[in-house]
Amino acid sequence: MAYFDVIIIGAGAAGLMCAATAGQRGRSVLLLDHAAKLAEKIRISGGGRCNFTNLQARPECYLSENPHFCRSALSQFSVQDFIRMVERHGIGYHEKTLGQLFCDESSQQIIDMLDGLCREAGVDRRMGVTVGTVERSDRFRVHSSAGVFESASLVVATGGLSIPQIGATGFGYQLAEQFGLALTPRVPALVPLTFHADDVARFAPLAGVSLDAVASCGKTRFRENVLFTHKGLSGPAILQVSSYWTPGQELVLDLLPELDAEAYLGEREGSEQLLANALADTGWPKRFAQAWLDGAGFGGRVKDLPGKRRRQLAETLHHWRVRPNGTQGYKKAEVTRGGVSTRDLSSKTMMAKDVPGLFFIGEVVDVTGWLGGYNFQWAWSSGFVAGENC
Ligand SMILES: Cc1cc2nc3c(=O)[nH]c(=O)nc-3n(C[C@H](O)[C@H](O)[C@H](O)COP(=O)(O)OP(=O)(O)OC[C@H]3O[C@@H](n4cnc5c(N)ncnc54)[C@H](O)[C@@H]3O)c2cc1C
Repeated sequence: MAYFDVIIIGAGAAGLMCAATAGQRGRSVLLLDHAAKLAEKIRISGGGRCNFTNLQARPECYLSENPHFCRSALSQFSVQDFIRMVERHGIGYHEKTLGQLFCDESSQQIIDMLDGLCREAGVDRRMGVTVGTVERSDRFRVHSSAGVFESASLVVATGGLSIPQIGATGFGYQLAEQFGLALTPRVPALVPLTFHADDVARFAPLAGVSLDAVASCGKTRFRENVLFTHKGLSGPAILQVSSYWTPGQELVLDLLPELDAEAYLGEREGSEQLLANALADTGWPKRFAQAWLDGAGFGGRVKDLPGKRRRQLAETLHHWRVRPNGTQGYKKAEVTRGGVSTRDLSSKTMMAKDVPGLFFIGEVVDVTGWLGGYNFQWAWSSGFVAGENC
């Protein structure tokens, strides 16, 4: 039976980083993945250009039962560490917005870099391998379609549940349960939200429009674009708040964050201008202004809006309340919120506290980043830390 110091299940972002790191330390590493193609999520990420990190990554940008858990890994392998790695490999990159770093050319460059590092480190990487059962006595024994393998350390890097069509499974959660680790509830996150049927009909004419807005869910606010879709709301601001949203909760949108709407309309008091045109003058698409006013129950000319109604309209523009009825689910979610409980893992090594040699890294863990490169940074940092300790 073949023996390796380390077996890693899942050759995605975290698994590749862990394999390269462990291999460079001289550990013999077997990296197994059931998908035919390597690191599909890296390939499709960032519109094909991989938003590989964020200059502003810090623990506050991550959701977890223990918000401090990610601190150690993020400092052991930082944003700057990954940038240095990218630069060493001659990969051109640029900041798009809000600290988000993207490849100039293609996300394939990130895959090739990590795969190259694994090859240099002598990692035995096998794709298209189905992993069956895992047992543990003094070693881990992994039964797979490529044979039975044994190892001193087992690293679970199987990712989350989003986009099942490219290989996502809940296998990592099953393994966690098998070895007695707790799981926190898992839900789709960074995901478009859907309207109730009435609102779908009411706001259908707005589909395709994108606006700068502040989206709030409870005390959490994000200012970015909001996109109206045929099913509800999407765009970066909505994806961000979706990670904080719980069913039944209301979202509040400030649709004119740059403006004091009451003062703006007040300045036009007595004007013959149509309200829709007055809003279009703020930069809103005319079609959107008309449809939104209809949906919100306002219309006519500015001069016909008495002071009380004007205040109501201004209030609605700055605090437009929407109660989504759900999300578009794992098919459209970028990540899974929740996962292997941080209570059962060491934040310094990513090893299970009660199962020596067993590690969980990347998205399978209950650490979920904001939109914008934060999730890959978590994969690199947690992967590196496990690679140093497995
Ligand atoms: C469309 C899309 C775009 C994204 N864009 C970005 C972005 O630009 N920036 C960013 O930071 N994040 C982005 N993300 C999120 C990011 O891709 C993930 O958070 C990250 O890939 C998680 O890394 P991971 O290694 O934990 O999991 P993954 O990269 O998902 O890797 C898990 C691996 O495990 C394998 N696996 C699963 N189950 C099994 C099993 N039973 N047996 C064997 N192998 C298995 C899978 O095939 C996969 O290769 C995006 C996600 C999506 C869906």
